[in-house]
Amino acid sequence: MPLREKKYQVHGLTGQFCDASSELMYRRTIQESVRLEFSLAVSVAACVFGMFVISDYYLLGLTRSFYLLLTMRIVVVSLCLLIAFVVRRWSGNDYRVWLHALPLWVFATGIILIVPLRPESLSTQITAVAVATMGFYLLIPNRLTVVTAASLYLNIGFLVSAVLFAGLTPIGMLLLAVLLGMSNVVGFFALLRLERLQRKQYAMLYEERDQNRQLHNEIAHRQSLEEQLRIAAERDALTNLNNRGHFMKLAKGLLKRSQYEKVPFSLFMIDVDHFKSINDTWGHSHGDWVLTKIAGVCAESLRPSDVIGRFGGEEFVVALPNTSPSEAQMIAERLKMKVAELSSMEEMSKLNPSITIGVAATSADDVGLESLITRADQMLYVGKRGGRNQVVVCRDARSDSS
Ligand code: GH3
Ligand code: MG
Ligand code: MG
Repeated sequence: MPLREKKYQVHGLTGQFCDASSELMYRRTIQESVRLEFSLAVSVAACVFGMFVISDYYLLGLTRSFYLLLTMRIVVVSLCLLIAFVVRRWSGNDYRVWLHALPLWVFATGIILIVPLRPESLSTQITAVAVATMGFYLLIPNRLTVVTAASLYLNIGFLVSAVLFAGLTPIGMLLLAVLLGMSNVVGFFALLRLERLQRKQYAMLYEERDQNRQLHNEIAHRQSLEEQLRIAAERDALTNLNNRGHFMKLAKGLLKRSQYEKVPFSLFMIDVDHFKSINDTWGHSHGDWVLTKIAGVCAESLRPSDVIGRFGGEEFVVALPNTSPSEAQMIAERLKMKVAELSSMEEMSKLNPSITIGVAATSADDVGLESLITRADQMLYVGKRGGRNQVVVCRDARSDSS
């Protein structure tokens, strides 16, 4: 049997979950409504039991038996109302079986005690016991075993009392035993069916919730996988900047928008100077670390509207929308300076890292991103030839090509 089914298997005779933890969970979920139903049922039953004092008076008058019956009824009613009150007020996580069983035993004792005090009204009492038995099973919910024990106590006690104090004949005793036995069987199976149905309903509800939870987890897992995939497809693994493909996509969008809004657009090609010698002197992994530091400085120094990407190797590319050539030059100079300031870090002091930046700008609406990159690249090589660690700006695309 699958684990899930075993967890929610209902016992054929007790109507409870075979698995103790499932039963406990079930009781916890219903305990609030059980407390309410229980205290209500016990209060109503106590009032009905108390009201029989009228028939006692009618049958017995103000005799000793009447006063004894009156005392017994007052004790039973007060005890039951007190228990109903305590159960209603006593909130907590535990289902107190003994507290729920107590009023049944008090009622049963009270009913049994009526026989010696009013033996002549046995026939009415038999009807009352049959009704009380059914009431035990139907009105006190969710504890078949407890109810069955209390009901058997009531029935056997009443039978014995009837034989001892009301002079019940053997035939009468047999008939009474059959009648009470039938009441018990009907009540037992009615409650058993109810208990099983309630637990099956609960199990179905929880299975559905479990499945929903699993589905939610699955969706969250897929979303996180998709996010990871997206990051992997868009980001450069070493520097965490946009990779070339993603940069091109973003930069094309920015260029188009600038052209549509008729505002200038600038582009940087950045190359780390003498990076090969850093690798050769300090090792490739140290070179990687220097690259990430330079990439970090670039990303921090630029504006939120600028887009930066790793173009390849030790080269970076930046798209600067709504930026004139002179503004671009200023930003590039600042960037170059920030990279030079990295030498103040202890681990970089001997490296003196520097960058050369080629800047291309356009305000024309027929210039493509690729030709802008080519021009920035050309400026970069002008800068390299000119001694590195510098910014070279190519003014307008049109003026350059003309
Ligand atoms: P220049 O100033 O002319 O740009 O000189 P350079 O040494 O920087 O240029 P060159 O093109 O000769 O060398 C670039 C070096 O960058 C070579 C390559 O091994 C190294 N490189 C490229 N990608 C990576 C990387 O991801 N990590 C490391 N550590 N090195 C890289
Ligand atoms: Mg290079
Ligand atoms: Mg280089």
